[in-house]
Parts: sequence; structure tokens; C-alpha cells
Amino acid sequence: MYILEVIPIANLPPQVPQLLSYFFSKELPKGAIVEVVIGNRKVLAVVISSEPAENQKILLKKSSFQLKKISSIVSETPLVSETQFKIALWLSQNYFSPLGMCLKTVLPPFFLKQNLEPRMLNLEKSKFHLSGQEIQNSKLLLSRAKNIIKNITSEIKKTLRDKKQILLVVPEISIAKYFYNHLSQHHETVIIHSKINQKQYRQSWDKINSGDAEIIIGTRQALFAPFTNLGLIIVEDPSNEAYKSDMSPKYNTVSLVKKIAKIYSAKLLFVSQAPDVDQYLLSKNESLKLENKIRDLRSEIKIENMLSDISSGNSSIFSRELKNSIDKYLKEKKKVLIFSTRKGYSTSLICENCRFIFKCPQCSVPLRLHVSPADSLICYRCSLIQKIPDHCPNCNSYKLKSAGFAGSEKIKDELNFMFPNTEVVTFDSYVIKNIKQEEEFEARMRDLESFVCIGTQSIFGQRFNLNFDLVGIPNLDSLVTVPDFKAEETLFLQIEKLLDFKPQKIIIQTLHTKNQILETIISGNYEKLYENELKVRKLFWYPPFAKLIKLSFASPDRNKSEYEARILSEKLKMAILQMKFENSVKLMDPSPAFIEKQRGFYVYNIILKIMSDFKISDILKFIPSNWMIDVEPKSIL
Ligand SMILES: [Zn+2]
Ligand SMILES: [Zn+2]
Repeated sequence: MYILEVIPIANLPPQVPQLLSYFFSKELPKGAIVEVVIGNRKVLAVVISSEPAENQKILLKKSSFQLKKISSIVSETPLVSETQFKIALWLSQNYFSPLGMCLKTVLPPFFLKQNLEPRMLNLEKSKFHLSGQEIQNSKLLLSRAKNIIKNITSEIKKTLRDKKQILLVVPEISIAKYFYNHLSQHHETVIIHSKINQKQYRQSWDKINSGDAEIIIGTRQALFAPFTNLGLIIVEDPSNEAYKSDMSPKYNTVSLVKKIAKIYSAKLLFVSQAPDVDQYLLSKNESLKLENKIRDLRSEIKIENMLSDISSGNSSIFSRELKNSIDKYLKEKKKVLIFSTRKGYSTSLICENCRFIFKCPQCSVPLRLHVSPADSLICYRCSLIQKIPDHCPNCNSYKLKSAGFAGSEKIKDELNFMFPNTEVVTFDSYVIKNIKQEEEFEARMRDLESFVCIGTQSIFGQRFNLNFDLVGIPNLDSLVTVPDFKAEETLFLQIEKLLDFKPQKIIIQTLHTKNQILETIISGNYEKLYENELKVRKLFWYPPFAKLIKLSFASPDRNKSEYEARILSEKLKMAILQMKFENSVKLMDPSPAFIEKQRGFYVYNIILKIMSDFKISDILKFIPSNWMIDVEPKSIL
């Protein structure tokens, strides 16, 4: 008789034990897969240890419950490697997520779906040596998108000469494909992302595991591949939002990459147009070597004060300067990008008579107005779609009008009106929904000589392929409407990405022409902006000086959410005091979320700020299981 300790691949709350004990007639190796019964559900579980029952007799006698037998063996051959265990454990500890969920994240998607053949992971020949040392070399390469391949070639060649694998992590599938198309011509290259099918996934997986693959390109899922001898990890655009996982464990790819580089003793290379605040600090402390390969001349950047246009009677989205420039560039058969901050027609619909704003009944946010393909009001929170009402429910007036920031559709309407003979195309996630549409867009762009493209942030994935001669930003202010501590840094990094399109000229329209962010955008000298940022962030305990954790409670009853938030806040205050955590943990007062009502639930948040050497479970163990925990959240709102 043996006592087996197993981790069920299931979502058990992080507050309950993740290791369960079962008995079985024989010993099974670590990493073997079994089926066990929890409650009345059959779930797969990974074996962690087997011990003869006689060693644990005293323990068994003491235990008040009867140990259950495992239901069946799925694979006696270990299918989970030591590295996968390590990564899962790290995810579980750092994001306070159930270990079973973390194991599921680490395992490939075909793991639970197919008959598990032992050939899937050949653990015996894992060649890498695990080491606990710090990352040897990490470097930040500043480069324009179109020069990245040229600039990383020597690093790639050096790594391949040492017979080591290279992992290239990118935020988007279209970017993965760009690198694949270029690198697969010269090297044995595989690709991993969420849209490849099970068979391709498995082929890539096997090639990585056998050591045949030299370069592995992928989105964040590629981090869990079974590398045999990883020598270099390249991360493109490390501050990209797509690197934060939306699902539990809600991990941050850049943090995980650092861990994986340590596990494999691999070199780490970040590539972007400009450093973010974190990297700036690291490079100042010389723990990140900065290599600047941006040598291109900066585009001419012109700031247009929209107040003067409005006061002189111009009610258009476009200032006279921007309109004239578009006209001039189109006459010269050039390409124009209008950077739009919003999809749809406008950010809201209001009643002209009583100023009533149409809001989502579920989420309390203004509904966005869309005119294509059909007139509708759409909630961006819960995807609710409504027909546009013909009158105001408040005063019965029929005078309804669009309001708020202009979206892509409204910009398109105006452009079509001003330049009736020009091709105007839109690239946003509402119009371009999948890879096929993206490819059609690219093909069409190649055929057109001169055109105007309206693009939201999604156009950034195209900065490897496309150039624009003129870039117009109709409303810079609409880019910073959310009062997040990262707002200015994010805005600066977005403009730097626009420069990747190699425009001759950028015209920025704003109502606020005097501020430091505009100076930084024009000069590209982020030092002053970042030095100020660092001072503020250090003082108020923000990243990179502290780690943020967002605790959220949601209930259909607002009073209940508010009450729970207050109770937990008091409890945490007491805990911090009693455990003497004051120098490591700071607690912000509970507050309703920026969008308080989401899908019918009132959301209240509590933000914890934690010093980096503090073990987060020491404070998170006080959080009841009906609270959501998000470590390193995208936003604290
Ligand atoms: Zn009204
Ligand atoms: Zn909604």
C-alpha cells in the first residue's frame, strides 16, 4: 500500500490545500497522471510523491477521515517535467492562484484532450541544467520595428553557434507571423500561439522537445514549451498590455520570462522603441544593459491647439492645418494614417433637450454609438447591443445626438465628405476581427498607391510592414481619460510606436498644449519625464518600487459590496498592524471600481502595495475566497 500525494488539475480555491492524499496498491513516479474523485467529480491529477503506507501509519491513525483510493492510472510514465512543476509553483506563489490551475496553464492544450502518449514529453533526456542563479545577461535593445531583425542577427547567430535554442516572445499573432516569415528562411523555426490547431501545436511541441527547433516564436503561451537547451529569450515590446494574462493565473509575461531565463540560465534581450519606466530604472542601476540602435531622424511633430480652431468657428474633428496637410499629402500620392482612439461612431448618445445619456443597464457606462453595419448602441463592457431608440426615455424628445470623443466611424464619415475621391480604410478591432481579415487588409494596402487609413491601437501590429507619410492624431486628450498612474508613460510609448511607421510629419491636436508629455513627445528625451515619474512612484509606493495587488468584490447589491470592502479593509489594517508589516505592505482605502457597475455587479476594489521582498501569501491568506485577487493588475481602477 502506498500513500500518493497528488495535485488535481482543477480549480480549487488557493486558500484550501492543493495537495491531496490518496492510496494505491503500487508506487508511482513523480509526474505520473492519475484520475481521482473530488466530491462527485472525476478529475485528472498529477502525482507528486508516493510513499509506503507503513511510513505514515501514525499520521493515518490520527487522520479523522478515510483515505480514498485513486480511481485509475492515466499515464504511469511521467508527463509533467521538473521545469513545468517549477514554473507552476512559481505562478501559484507569485499570483496567488490555485496550483492545479497553474499546472493546467503550463501544460499544452492537447494535454487533457488527447490520449496521453508517453512520447509526448521525453523527460529522461532533458539536457538543460537547472540553476538558481541570477540572470547572467539582460539587455535592452532600442530599435525601430523594421530594423529589429537586422539588429538581433548577431545575437541569434552566436546562440545558434553554441547549439542553443532561441525563444522570441511577441505580443500579437500578426507580429509572430512577421518574424516567422523572415527567420524561417534561414533557421529551423516553429511558431506557437492560440490560433494554431492541435496538430500544429503538437508538431511544434515535439520539435522543441527533440531539440530540432532552433528558434521558437510565439505569444506568451510559447513560454511553457519544453525547451531542451534554451540560450536566449528575446521579448519584443515588453510593456505591451497583451503580456498580462486575463485568466487565472493572471501572470505578467515579463516577470515570468525573467523566472524562465533563470531556470534555463538563458540570456535575456528586450527590444522596443523606448524603455518603459521599469526598464529605465534598471538601466540606470546598470542591471539592464542599454543598447541604442535608433538612429533615424525624428519626424516633424506639430502640435495644434484645437481651442483656436473651435473659437474661429471650425466644428470639424480636423483642424485646418491637419485638413490641409491631408489634402497636400494625398495630392502627392502619399499615405496618411489617422490615429483614432475609439472604435464605433462616438463614445455616447445624448438627448439634446435634457442631456440624458444612454447608458448600459447592466454596467452603468455610456453606450457607444455605432452606425455600421447597422445603427446600434453597444456596451463595451458586456457586449450588450441595443437598437438606437427614436426618443429620449426621460423627456420624450426626438432630438438625440452623438457626443463625446469621435470614433473611427465618425472620422471616416468626415474624411469621405472632405475627400470624396480618396480611398478611406479602417483598421480597428471592430472592423478587422480575425487573421484572415488582417491578411486581406495587408494585401489591399499593398495594391493601393495613396490612401487614408484610420487605425486604433490595433494598427501597431502592422508597424513592421507598413509605412505612412503623414500621421494625424485628432484628439490626443482622448488617449488619457483614465486616471491611471501609468497614463503618461503609456501615451509616450504609443507615440514612439507611431514613429515606427516612418512618417515625415505628425500632427497632434489637443486642447492642452502646455505640458511635459508634449515636450517629451517632440524631443523623444524621456529622461526628464521618467525622473519625475520615479520620484512620485517611489514616494507613493508604485511600481517599479512596489508590487500592486488589486482585490475586488462584486455583488448585485451595492451596499453589500461596499460593506464587504470596508470589513476586509479593517481586517487587513489589523493584520498589518499585528504582524508588523507596516514597512512592507501599504493598504489603500476601499473604493468603487472606475466603472462601478459591471455586468450587473457593483465592484469595489482594495489596492495593496507590497515591497518586492515580501511574501505575498503572508497577507493574501487573510482574503476570503469570494474576493478576486489580481497581482500586477493592468489597471488599479
Ligand atoms: Zn431628454
Ligand atoms: Zn454593459
